[in-house]
Amino acid sequence: MTTMTTSNIESPDLASIIQTYNDVTERLHRSHDALAQEVCRLREKLHEQDKELQRRERLAALGQMAAGVAHEIRNPLGGIGLYASLLERDLSDRPKQCEIVRKLSAGIRNVESIVRDILAFAGDGEPSRRPTLLARVLEDTLAQTAPQAHARRVDVSVDTRLDSVELLCDSAQIERALINLILNAVDAAGDGGRVWLRSCERAREGLLGIVVEDNGPGVPDELRQRIFNPFFTTKDAGTGLGLAIVHRIAESNGGEVRAGQRAGGGAAFVLYVPLFRECQDGGIQREAG
Ligand code: ADP
Repeated sequence: MTTMTTSNIESPDLASIIQTYNDVTERLHRSHDALAQEVCRLREKLHEQDKELQRRERLAALGQMAAGVAHEIRNPLGGIGLYASLLERDLSDRPKQCEIVRKLSAGIRNVESIVRDILAFAGDGEPSRRPTLLARVLEDTLAQTAPQAHARRVDVSVDTRLDSVELLCDSAQIERALINLILNAVDAAGDGGRVWLRSCERAREGLLGIVVEDNGPGVPDELRQRIFNPFFTTKDAGTGLGLAIVHRIAESNGGEVRAGQRAGGGAAFVLYVPLFRECQDGGIQREAG
């Protein structure tokens, strides 16, 4: 920066002009620096948005391809399942053969559930968002996850304050997202483990954060970026679609999903869903921001 010096100038007018010149120059430099910083920030933001757009485009293409394959598999699979059940009936007096057909049928059901997951990931259109009492969603969700939790003696406890909240969402989709989170938590908690559902104390304005946490090993830091990618799994029999589906559902319902650590060890996933209304008495405590 060029600064003029006024120390050996006799004329007070000239000195004040030079002083003003120096002040203006100084201010121009400051605003130039601020602008350069702002340009830098905006460039970074644009880069982030560009990456997110590319990710969405990749996911959309992957979803379309996966849905095409799933549709092609679904039709013949229906036939195979039907013939297997007819065979099972015909062989009812031959226990050995019947056992083999039962194994076949179990395998078919397994493939059917993968096909269902792929179709859910590909998305079945826009969500139909309606005011929904969370208590009802939780009731159905827990009824559907109870067999797996029971089989592994995992205790699933729910904070009853969640019951009084009304959400604005597609209830079937949010139910599916919660089922995926709870089944993952049950898996992670393992035999005799524990799973908790509660509201997030630091919920965002207009959103309710539903926390699903477990006392399993937690998600390693290096995997946290990858677990929401479709087909990413660390399980032998996993499809890696559960969290990709949760992510998609959260976004299409105007919310989001985050993975973190539980304070006492284990994983904590937060599913944010738009609130419709909160009950006045004993409702959820929210903090803005
Ligand atoms: P899948 O269950 O078929 O593996 P998901 O997309 O549901 O597919 O999960 C992806 C991966 O995220 C899992 O394989 C596991 O490594 C990790 N994960 C998900 N939930 C948990 C959890 N509660 N605790 C620890 N790891 C988890």
